[in-house]
Formats: sequence, C-alpha cells, structure tokens
Amino acid sequence: MLSNLRLRLLSYLVIFYMLIAFAWWSVLLYSKNKDAYYAKVELLKMGMSAEGIYHSNEHFLHTKEYLELTKKYQRQEWMIFGEASVFIVSLVIGIWLINRGYNKEIEIAHQRRNFLLSITHELKSPIASIRLVLETFLKRKLKPEQIERFGKNAIKDSERLNELVNNLLFAAKLETAYQPHLETIHLHELVNDLVDSLSEKFPKVIFNKNIQSEISAIEGDRMGMVSVVTNLIENAVKYNFTEQPKIEINLTEATGKINLEIADNGVGISDKDKKKIFERFYRVGNEDTRKTKGTGLGLYIVSQIVKAHQGKITVADNQPQGTVFKIVFPK
Ligand code: ATP
Ligand code: MG
Repeated sequence: MLSNLRLRLLSYLVIFYMLIAFAWWSVLLYSKNKDAYYAKVELLKMGMSAEGIYHSNEHFLHTKEYLELTKKYQRQEWMIFGEASVFIVSLVIGIWLINRGYNKEIEIAHQRRNFLLSITHELKSPIASIRLVLETFLKRKLKPEQIERFGKNAIKDSERLNELVNNLLFAAKLETAYQPHLETIHLHELVNDLVDSLSEKFPKVIFNKNIQSEISAIEGDRMGMVSVVTNLIENAVKYNFTEQPKIEINLTEATGKINLEIADNGVGISDKDKKKIFERFYRVGNEDTRKTKGTGLGLYIVSQIVKAHQGKITVADNQPQGTVFKIVFPK
C-alpha cells in the first residue's frame, strides 16, 4: 500500500514537472516566434525600402508581403496555443485516469481482503465443527440420541459448505459463461412454495404473503429464480435482530410487468451502502452485521440473475424500519 502511495506521488510529481516544463517551453516558443516575426518585418521593410517599393509606414502595413507575413505569424501563434492546450488537457485527463485507477485498485484490494477474511472463516468453522463431531464419535461412546444430534449438526455444516462452494462456483460462472437455462415458470407457485419451505426453516419469523393468484408465466431460469428469492429472504432473516422478525412478500402483476417485493423489519441499510451491496464480496462493515456469516456474494448473484432476465432490482428503506428489495421483471 505504501509503495502504491509512493508511486502515485511520483507520477503526480512527474506530471507536474512535465506541465511546468511544457508551459515554460510554450512561453519561450511564443516569445521567440514573436522576436522572429519582428525581425522578419524589419528585414522586409529594409528590403522594400531599398527597392523603393513603399513610401510610407501606412503603405507598408497594407502591402501584400507584410500581410502574408503577419497571417503566417498569427497561424503559428494559434498553433502554439492549440498544441499547449491539447497537451495540458491530455495531462489533466492522464492525472484523472491515474487517480481513478488507483482508487479502484485500493477498493479491489479492500474487497479482496474482506473476501479472504470472510471466506476463511466460512470455510474453517464448518470444517472444524465436522471434525469435532467425527473425533467425538471416535473417542467417546455416545448415546443414540447424541449421535443423532451431533450427526444432524455435521450434516447441516456440510450443507453450509456445499452452499458456499456452489455460490463461489456460480459467481465465477456469472463472470464468464452464465446462460440462463430458460423454461416456463409460474412465479406465484415458485414463490409460494419457497416461502412455505423457508417459513419451516425459520419458525420464529412471521411471514406475510401477498401473492397474486394468477401471474403470467415467464420464460426464466428456475434455479436462478430460486436463488434470487432464497437469497433475499435469507438476508431478511439474517440481518434482523428484533424480537419479532417480520418479512412481507408481495408478488403482483401490473401494466405488463411482474413486481416482486421482499420487505423486512431488520437493521436496514444506509444510503451509502445501498449503492455498494450488489458488488461482489461487499459486506456492510457495521459491528452487528459483521457478526453474521456470509461472503458478500448473495446480492451480487441475485443482481446478475435479475439482469440476465432483463429485470431490475432496487433497494429502499422500509417503514418504520428495515429494508425493501424490489424486483421488476418484464413479462
Ligand atoms: P452471503 O449472502 O454470500 O452469504 P452476505 O449476506 O454478507 O453473504 P449479500 O447477501 O451479498 O452478502 O449482502 C451484502 C450485504 O448487504 C450484507 O453483508 C448485509 O450487510 C447487507 N444486507 C443484505 N440484505 C440485507 C437486509 N435485508 N437487511 C440489512 N442488510 C442487508
Ligand atoms: Mg446474503
């Protein structure tokens, strides 16, 4: 990071030096050009006077030769001015590009570090707990109900690992070769089924469904749609520390568009973070949410799938608290 900063300062210094040097050379060129012009005018005057071509100063100023010389001088003046401007504008654009590049690089390095930290934690903790279960099985004689409890926990952890690896693979695929596998989908059925199974998974959460019964079928990727709804609902549960988490799911069709809304009464997202949460590996850096598990891939995957279906996803504040994700799909 320090050497990056040094490099940045050095490039600014070099560009600054070039600017000053060029400005100096331009001024010098300008004054030399002016001197040369005056000398040429004097020479012309002397030559013409020797040949007796002009009678007065007034007459000389209207001669063809003098006018041509002046025109040429003015052209050269404009050339110096024009080239200096182009050079200065190019340098300013150069500085701006360098600055933008450095800022992007710093942000990418920050995200990469965040990702490495979260992925290491996400991979290590299920592996450690599965290992602990296996060691316990080997070392101790357990009662059948203990075996069942520990076994179930280990399966849950392995599912988490599997989900994580799938997410990573899917995110990598989105970068290069994601082609939605299109089939006819009835969104109202898909969302209904998913909400039902997720409400079994999260019994403490109150789910409110407002799903229009007849939604036009769309051509879409079933797995992708499942991933979108699951990710949004799991986030709504995960970033909610209230006594009574509430999630409202609205699915409606109006004016040729299908609208899906998932609203929660959780911690909410600041306006600054709203702009970034759809980026790969971005996680909000507040203490509460940092305690939660995650890699910052969920919303990136969601937004890419929505995009691949020509849809649009937006995020807003819920009232009195929480977040609303709105997705609009064309029919
Ligand atoms: P992953 O989904 O990969 O397990 P994650 O949940 O951290 O990890 P995203 O789903 O991409 O990643 O979410 C990015 C960030 O946006 C989260 O870290 C969280 O801070 C914030 N966020 C997402 N959904 C909500 C929500 N419903 N309420 C509050 N904050 C949210
Ligand atoms: Mg998530």
